Amino acid sequence: MSQLLFRNFALLEPEVGELQNGFELLVEGDTVREVSDKSIKATNADVVDCGGRTLMPGLIDSHVHVMLSEVNIRFLESVPLTLMTARAARLMLAMLNRGFTSVRDTGGADWGMKTGIEQGDIPGPRLFIAGAAIGPTGGHSDPRRRTDFGMRCHCCDAMRFGMRQSDGVPEVIKSVREQMRQGADHIKLMMSGGVASPYDPLDSLQFSPAEVAAAVEEARAFGRYVCAHAYTPEAITRAAQGGVRTIEHGNLIDDTAAGLMAEKDMFLIANLVTYYAMRERAAEFGMSGDMLAKNDLVIDGALRSLEICKRAGVPVAYGTDLLGALQVEQSREFILRSEVQSPIEIIRAATTIGARILRQEGKLGTLEPGAYADLLLIDGDPLKNLGLFQEQGKHLAAIMKGGKFHKNWLN
Ligand SMILES: [Zn+2]
Repeated sequence: MSQLLFRNFALLEPEVGELQNGFELLVEGDTVREVSDKSIKATNADVVDCGGRTLMPGLIDSHVHVMLSEVNIRFLESVPLTLMTARAARLMLAMLNRGFTSVRDTGGADWGMKTGIEQGDIPGPRLFIAGAAIGPTGGHSDPRRRTDFGMRCHCCDAMRFGMRQSDGVPEVIKSVREQMRQGADHIKLMMSGGVASPYDPLDSLQFSPAEVAAAVEEARAFGRYVCAHAYTPEAITRAAQGGVRTIEHGNLIDDTAAGLMAEKDMFLIANLVTYYAMRERAAEFGMSGDMLAKNDLVIDGALRSLEICKRAGVPVAYGTDLLGALQVEQSREFILRSEVQSPIEIIRAATTIGARILRQEGKLGTLEPGAYADLLLIDGDPLKNLGLFQEQGKHLAAIMKGGKFHKNWLN
């Protein structure tokens, strides 16, 4: 098996939290075989001189939508499946170029997209999928207009994969099983109103306790877990009591809801950047006034949610939730969070905490022996300058995923 020996770098192992010099790292096939502060004997290995740069594991974005290529998701109904796929390929390539070697899709991406990446048909991050997000009629995943009665057929447009409506325990169970049949790594439920849907109040409670509990039971029976879209303390509490494992967004969380999440070993996936990006630019991409008004309701809570979770001891992962053309701002989340978090806290959110959520501890978010060889070589020290993650990967001299260079500007 081919071997690569990395030398002359400062190691950034997120759990350690500071740069370590004098290490060598051996990659064999797609895996980190050895990391040592003594010289590694590997006579057949090709040597990579890293020129004193920082070596760290690839980044994880725990909340993306690679298929949602329109800022106003309503427009997806005029996007054919072929164009949807072409756009998703471009969006995922850009994510990988920014150093995100793994992403967790929370509604939209399907097993076909995941397989295309795994088999090397298209370049992109490792993809962990939910299939369609499941919500009740009239909820955050119901894209119909008020003039639509009954269901529209979305077989041939890009709305096909993102959303599914289910009402009552039997329908919810069926939808959950259907997503798992189609290869879902996790199940996404809508527990409160959302910004990108026009008719559901943000503080509406979507799905009854019995519906949530049924979804969780089915997901667990299949070895999966449930993640829930929720903004308010009431929605977060209902999700937590039903056995949901991760809360997405959570902007309006309070101390009591955060305490319950800590007690139940849950995670929050915050995503500040999408609210800032929408406030600044979504109108130009056709987002409606109703949606933007809801955006204003949650934007201030986003930074506060990080502080509340820190006090309560709830781990917060790095998420972005950007739609369509706004996805270019994926790395700005580092900068926005730095108002209330230290660089190492944000880097852990985008590595080790993401890996725990994906149930890939020791495989992702670390460069310890046995981990996938997903790594970045950075022109400087990101603990001192998070700007190194900005500008679409310009400061990343090399990006490796699964032992293969996606980018190598070293030579
Ligand atoms: Zn989302």
